[in-house]
Amino acid sequence: MPLLTGLTRGGKSWTPTFADAIDPEKCIGCGRCFKACSRKVLGPGDIYDEETDTERMVMTIVNSDNCIGCAGCGVTCPKKCFTFTTLEM
Ligand code: SF4
Ligand code: SF4
Repeated sequence: MPLLTGLTRGGKSWTPTFADAIDPEKCIGCGRCFKACSRKVLGPGDIYDEETDTERMVMTIVNSDNCIGCAGCGVTCPKKCFTFTTLEM
């Protein structure tokens, strides 16, 4: 199946990379990715932290169908939490 690709404004080929997962062990809940995403794909969630015996906030993917594959979230993340995937049609 062909890979979903697009064009830049200048006519160069571009392959969208969609947010696939956020590593909760790496995430520090800074919210930078949340602010960067224009598509409301991301939202806060809580995980239990065994080391501190407390809940802590991490970013999660709450609306993956809205992702346009811009990868802006990953660019802003200081902890390299994101993994991305391409899409076949
Ligand atoms: S790839 Fe773009 S649209 Fe998708 S979650 Fe990241 S910032 Fe939002
Ligand atoms: S930018 Fe990275 S570390 Fe910050 S909330 Fe998003 S995923 Fe977590």
